[in-house]
Amino acid sequence: MPRIVVDYDKCTGLGICESIAPDVFEVDDDGSLLILEESPDETRRGELQEAVDGCPTGALSIED
Ligand code: SF4
Repeated sequence: MPRIVVDYDKCTGLGICESIAPDVFEVDDDGSLLILEESPDETRRGELQEAVDGCPTGALSIED
């Protein structure tokens, strides 16, 4: 099962990831990223990879 890893030093809270997978990522009002589901189902991998690739600061990665 994929697990999402966030480098919070790199995340700038722009929320691209949230727009790609809103049920996994949420940026709150002060720009902090919350992971709503840390280990989503295997079937979500493509969407997660899209969020990883779409993050402009390279803050996201997937671990297995
Ligand atoms: S897209 Fe990247 S920088 Fe933006 S909120 Fe998500 S993890 Fe943070």
